[in-house]
Amino acid sequence: MTSQDAVTAQNVVKSFGQGKVAVRALDDVSLSIRKGEFFTLLGPSGCGKTTLLRLIAGFEMPSGGTILLDGQDVTTLPPNRRPVNTVFQSYALFPHLTVRENVGFALKMQGRDRAEVEDRTNRMLALVKMEELADRATAQLSGGQQQRVALARALAPQPKVLLLDEPLSALDLKLRKEMQVELKRLQKETGITFVFVTHDQEEALTMSDRIGVMSAGRLQQVATPREIYTAPINRFVAGFIGETNFLPVTKGADGARLGCGAEVTALGEGPVLTVRPEQVGVVATDQPGAIAATVDTLIYFGTDMHVHLRLSDGAALVARLPLPPGGDPGIAAGDGVGVAFAPGAARLIG
Ligand code: ATP
Repeated sequence: MTSQDAVTAQNVVKSFGQGKVAVRALDDVSLSIRKGEFFTLLGPSGCGKTTLLRLIAGFEMPSGGTILLDGQDVTTLPPNRRPVNTVFQSYALFPHLTVRENVGFALKMQGRDRAEVEDRTNRMLALVKMEELADRATAQLSGGQQQRVALARALAPQPKVLLLDEPLSALDLKLRKEMQVELKRLQKETGITFVFVTHDQEEALTMSDRIGVMSAGRLQQVATPREIYTAPINRFVAGFIGETNFLPVTKGADGARLGCGAEVTALGEGPVLTVRPEQVGVVATDQPGAIAATVDTLIYFGTDMHVHLRLSDGAALVARLPLPPGGDPGIAAGDGVGVAFAPGAARLIG
């Protein structure tokens, strides 16, 4: 933990139930989220993302470990005594109040004077571009508009940390993309630390400063989107984020030896080589270092094509190649070709 950290979890454990029906939702999670960061917790359903968020908010108490906010131990503090606020997937707006009344609600409850409530509410409405609809009932708003109001309401009391639990998942794809941009802008403009929960890897890659990838109650890797994508730490992370190839290897003289006998240079250590499809090249069979392969199938995706390849030991891999000018790929199913990995792109993992 440093003074730059907004949220720290130290060896956090959370179990639900007892005995045979006990579920260990979080298993020794330690994490530091920096001030002003857009941090995303990413993982499949049931991996413990929401549980971690609820522990940070104070809606649940950990079975073990410590939670700090802004350097202060808040492990046993109730939600209303923590400098955080939460935006839920369901928005949870007050239906009998107008947009303006929803946004100003927490400020009024804090006992702030009228002028301050009005001023802050107006600023929040401007921030989410909802000034013109300020006096509407929330029931008359679209999903995207309701989400904006929920954000303004959560930001109004100026929390140090805003927790967002799959806030965009109820929106259709187009609106979701728009709100992704909006959220990112809001976070940068306010400078508030955002902790965002999603199971959508593309959403996580495009919005986050850093991502914590979770699986089965454990944090697998915490890194920038680029690092997570280019240097996944294990098989789970490599397979969950984007598409990738997995090839079993044994130790070679200079790196790794594939099942077909070819020697390849790869970073890291482990029994499996992973390489992204866009880092696999199809080259001439006599190019130095080329691995012999056969083309199984070609699949077109408009701007690029996926070439399914098979090595001499039967191992399969996919290359994603840009479609050449004129659209003729120059290869066909059944062709014998060479395969080469881009320098530094192949990694060995556990
Ligand atoms: P999703 O994306 O589906 O919301 P998640 O990653 O947020 O999943 P959690 O909701 O944190 O996962 O759940 C983690 C595990 O803890 C799951 O196995 C879940 O069934 C269990 N769990 C969560 N809350 C409770 C509870 N109140 N009682 C019992 N088990 C729970």
